[in-house]
Amino acid sequence: SSIAQLLDGKALAQKMQTELATQVQSLTPQYGRPPGLAVLMVGDNPASAAYVRNKEKACAAVGIASFGKHFPNEATQAEVADMIAQLNADDRVDGILVQLPLPDHLDSVALLNQIHPDKDADGLHPMNLGRLVRTEPGLRSCTPYGVMRLLEAYNLDPAGKTAVVVGRSILVGKPIALMLLDANATVTIAHSRTPNLAEVTRSADILVAAVGRPNLITADMVKPGAIVVDVGINRITDETTGKSRLVGDVDFNAVQSVAEYLTPVPGGVGAMTVTMLLHNTVWSYQQRFQK
Ligand code: NDP
Repeated sequence: SSIAQLLDGKALAQKMQTELATQVQSLTPQYGRPPGLAVLMVGDNPASAAYVRNKEKACAAVGIASFGKHFPNEATQAEVADMIAQLNADDRVDGILVQLPLPDHLDSVALLNQIHPDKDADGLHPMNLGRLVRTEPGLRSCTPYGVMRLLEAYNLDPAGKTAVVVGRSILVGKPIALMLLDANATVTIAHSRTPNLAEVTRSADILVAAVGRPNLITADMVKPGAIVVDVGINRITDETTGKSRLVGDVDFNAVQSVAEYLTPVPGGVGAMTVTMLLHNTVWSYQQRFQK
């Protein structure tokens, strides 16, 4: 049997960032300012701090101005809300995102809902989720959107295919299912209460795992020749080396000899997410000037 072709998210992300940089370079003099992204962070969760640094670095690389706001852990709901209101009104800012998770004393849903929908770079505002449900143009959430771009880059058209999405979160599972549906796949959404998960996943021409459990998807759960998209990011301790490393939800080594296409972790879907955030910021910038 043959080995699956890897869907290289890292390479596609780099290619897209080069294209975005060229686009930003030509639009900045026309519009009189660069695109702007504001990343709001509260507290000092080291993982969040690393994500924020990556996002700001990626912005700089394509010519997007960063308007980062870092609040101490004790920040109040009103302080963060006031900042969002200021950024909503700030003409230099095309995208606003709140780095999650927030400290427990803050109501993150209320804050996300306060971002102006046209500046909602993460595509998580109810207005943008509604636009997705209605198949209207709008800001799309970055990870699912990245999955669609990755499939497109390899000419893997979902139309007419059976797609199974395992996971139903608002961040990943649900929006991916809707995007695959819009692309004319026949979509099933599975979750923790799905009986006979293996039977369901074996029906998939396109199998998307967005769960957060290492090795949940084993080789026997995959239809031979399937396209397998692994969204999961799990930190585990490698039994042989004792070192910590990242794995997805798919038993990569075994599934590699059953699937026809497979996304690696890292270097697959995860590598696309920040690029889609940049893409959304530039899209929202263009929308603003085309109005
Ligand atoms: P959530 O925890 O919000 O959702 C997990 C989903 O998986 C739930 O719908 C849950 O079902 C389902 N689930 C849990 N256990 C099982 C099981 N045994 N069988 C079937 N379904 C199960 O996670 P997220 O959607 O936020 O994230 C999923 C994964 O994707 C994580 O590993 C996360 O780190 C990663 N991720 C990666 C990103 C990237 O950039 N690549 C971005 C965001 C997330 P139920 O609803 O019934 O509880």
